[in-house]
Amino acid sequence: MKKEKLLISACLIGQNVKYNGKNNQINLSSLQKRYELIPFCPEVEGGLSTPRSPSEIVSYSPLKLINKEYKEVTKEFILGAKKATTLAQKEGIKKALLKANSPSCSSSLVYDGTFGGKLRRGEGVTTLFLKDIGVEIFDEHNKSILGESSI
Ligand code: SF4
Repeated sequence: MKKEKLLISACLIGQNVKYNGKNNQINLSSLQKRYELIPFCPEVEGGLSTPRSPSEIVSYSPLKLINKEYKEVTKEFILGAKKATTLAQKEGIKKALLKANSPSCSSSLVYDGTFGGKLRRGEGVTTLFLKDIGVEIFDEHNKSILGESSI
């Protein structure tokens, strides 16, 4: 039987695409049994290099992101998010497993834009774009998508 496609943050499957050139690999064995994994890194697809200066969301309205060198990177984040929606629509993707706390991928908390290590409620740019086209978003702490028991 054909497996459902799952968009997944590329760093979660072990690709070294994080800002610091590393990854956030998780255990994929249960996921791979149930889904065809489609890795994607919106920051790389938006044209940012790896490694790169980390970025944070300064404001949502208007949307503005800067990196730690105070260079604005809003356009790159929007481009990566648009590419994610194009890919999801082309591949018929209905679910995405995206990295928590990322300014691109988070679905609940983001750093507050001061580079002081403080989190606040908020979603990443790619998460917002994907939700807008009806993609259901999960993060790596969600046991239901990972196929792990919650007890
Ligand atoms: Fe991982 Fe998303 Fe950050 Fe890329 S943008 S490194 S996929 S959390």
